[in-house]
Amino acid sequence: MALTEADLAPLGIHRIPVPIPFPQAGGPVNVYAVEERGGGIFLWDAGLGSPEAIAAVEEGFRRIGRRLDEVTRIYLSHGHVDHYGAAVALMERRGAPVPVHVHPADLGKVAESGPRWRERIPHYLAHLRRLGVPEEVLEQGAREVGGGFRLARRIPAVEPAAPGERLAFDRFEAEVLHMPGHTPGLLCLWDAAHGVLFSADHLLEKVSPNPILELGPKGEEGAFLPLLRYLESLARTRALPVRLVLPGHGPPFDDHRAVIDGLLSFYRRRQARIRELLGERPLTGYELTCALFPRAGPGDLFLTVSEAMGNLEVLEARGEVVRESGGGVYRFRLAG
Ligand SMILES: [Zn+2]
Ligand SMILES: [Zn+2]
Repeated sequence: MALTEADLAPLGIHRIPVPIPFPQAGGPVNVYAVEERGGGIFLWDAGLGSPEAIAAVEEGFRRIGRRLDEVTRIYLSHGHVDHYGAAVALMERRGAPVPVHVHPADLGKVAESGPRWRERIPHYLAHLRRLGVPEEVLEQGAREVGGGFRLARRIPAVEPAAPGERLAFDRFEAEVLHMPGHTPGLLCLWDAAHGVLFSADHLLEKVSPNPILELGPKGEEGAFLPLLRYLESLARTRALPVRLVLPGHGPPFDDHRAVIDGLLSFYRRRQARIRELLGERPLTGYELTCALFPRAGPGDLFLTVSEAMGNLEVLEARGEVVRESGGGVYRFRLAG
């Protein structure tokens, strides 16, 4: 039988919605406060590091009658600013740091010692050029992104989270699941006894989690194939007997299989459209992106190219599309 949000308080789970300025994310980001065995509060995600977001977490703690200094440990579902950005500020307000855990594959995104985005930008620019993005579009796109990175503070000490690890709370236990796709190190929490899945951005009710283009540490291409990994993770998620999903954005929902089947048919339609477009003539990644998203602006470039490339990589892996290289640019054509 399905559960509802009303079933969370008896499990010692409290959802704190936190406002974020990214409308495409699927609504406010959720911070979950979970009652620890023997007292204290476990935090699943920290929220964005903006003043409004930090105030929303503090207000959420007041609402549930708890204090920030009760926080014992923080687990981060993945290395995106809206999920880890407030961790340092919350620990400062708490008065002392607590252990912060993240999957090793996302550690570099949140740790103070990790590479800065600006150090990685040249790799991504070179990659986007190979996908056929014109210089003027790159320049315009670079001007329009980057603001989000002021909304997060990197964390001085981060500990690697271990997939398969069991976390014991006051009224339930959960297993840490690695569900790569949305990011390489995305984690979910799975309470098998109650059928509760903390899904983070792996599974959202209203939006498809963007499989975001990801290069290796030295700019290596193909080190992580986001949509391929995502579809594998989705198949594992579909098999779980979930009664309630606690997502990274928006209210809880049940019937995870209907949401997953909707996503699978969404990607099937997208891939059919790509085969249709490549049936007319071979295209660069950028030409394909423009054909798929004719109304997207330069600020959306990274997300739209990621979406196009993720689907192309799936078709390549199935042997339906072939990549050819010439003049420093890739062209994709139908196989056969
Ligand atoms: Zn995310
Ligand atoms: Zn998010």
